[in-house]
Amino acid sequence: MRVDPAHVLGIKPGEAVVIRNIGGRITPGLLEQLSLLGRIGEVAKEIPGGGGEFHIIVLQHTDCGITRLAGDPAMLAHYFQIQEGELKQKAVTDPRAAVAGDVTSLQAIPALPGEWLISGLVYDVATGLVEIVVPPAAIRTVSIALDQGRSSGLSRVA
Ligand SMILES: [Zn+2]
Repeated sequence: MRVDPAHVLGIKPGEAVVIRNIGGRITPGLLEQLSLLGRIGEVAKEIPGGGGEFHIIVLQHTDCGITRLAGDPAMLAHYFQIQEGELKQKAVTDPRAAVAGDVTSLQAIPALPGEWLISGLVYDVATGLVEIVVPPAAIRTVSIALDQGRSSGLSRVA
């Protein structure tokens, strides 16, 4: 099943950059596209998609076609550019685990600005509902000072 993210998230033309691939997965090919997109933004001197901030949304869905490839480990390993023995960590049959894992792998990329927002969603094709698996947050905590501010804020509340 193909799911159109513009339809699911109500994205209007020009509001977002949408990169689609099988499974909605973070692959070397996807990362290359992200990198090219960043370069386009540098050359154009504007954030791709417009606006003042950038929010990466990893969106996958239930009953995705990629689950039908579970019996083709060689094909999947090539897609992800990993060894077949590492496929289990890609959770191709579990979209919630896959989204969480893909968000984590994006957070580990130093080239992505830490202040960008990232979130992970799963669209349930049976119910039409979007589940927030990873709530929106900065890709990386910006500084230790900010952490301390948050801690003291929490202690004041308590
Ligand atoms: Zn799909």
